[in-house]
Amino acid sequence: MKKIKFSLAGWLCRLLFPPRCLSCGALLEQDGLCQRCAAGLSLVEEDACRFCGRGRDRCRCDYGKALLFEQAVNAYYYEGTGRVLLQKFKFHGNTACYDQVLAQRFLARTAQAYAGVPFDYIVPVPRHAKDHRFDQARYLAQSLSKQLGVRCRTDLLEKVRKTLPQHRQNRENRGKNIKGAFAACKKQELQGVCILLVDDVSTSFSTLNECAMALKNAGADRVLCACLMTAAGKNKKDQGDRHE
Ligand SMILES: [Zn+2]
Ligand SMILES: [Zn+2]
Repeated sequence: MKKIKFSLAGWLCRLLFPPRCLSCGALLEQDGLCQRCAAGLSLVEEDACRFCGRGRDRCRCDYGKALLFEQAVNAYYYEGTGRVLLQKFKFHGNTACYDQVLAQRFLARTAQAYAGVPFDYIVPVPRHAKDHRFDQARYLAQSLSKQLGVRCRTDLLEKVRKTLPQHRQNRENRGKNIKGAFAACKKQELQGVCILLVDDVSTSFSTLNECAMALKNAGADRVLCACLMTAAGKNKKDQGDRHE
């Protein structure tokens, strides 16, 4: 009896609130994206650079500074439908955008790229303790934790200083803005460990570099990164996309 009640409720719910495209809002038969928005997702190429995790013509390995982490993997470029979904996910806590659309490729790409890497912990890029907005990096890290069966730790790295929004800074200021903003905690637990560092969007790698440096200076042996998205900019001179 209970089952019938539930499906009736589901049917009523769908009648009153039919599924809509998560990006443009068009009415759909099922959850997810409409065909047009699905085609507007910009996927990072399969043969991406194995260090910065960006497509060959968008590689930023010599983007003015050395990468302090071993390698990075990104699932999407931050443009088109991905940009719309990420903003809904990040600024409005709309987790369906991640769960129903973005998660599958992100989890698969990360698992594939890092098959055999003996991770000890997954660590999200932390928010400042007084920043109580939706924490998308933590959400992504917990999702990866379930997928990879590796423990997510939010107590090993902290943001010790508030910073200005990275996407409002130009390329030169991004590094200065974030410098010294992160500190490792519980150093005895970081000795010799291999860490998967997780963030939502990477741009100039300033944030990932700072976090990797804090972890390695505290004793971590290896730091590899997974980002849901990476800035769309096609070459080093492109300053069009300032999201971090
Ligand atoms: Zn749509
Ligand atoms: Zn590269």
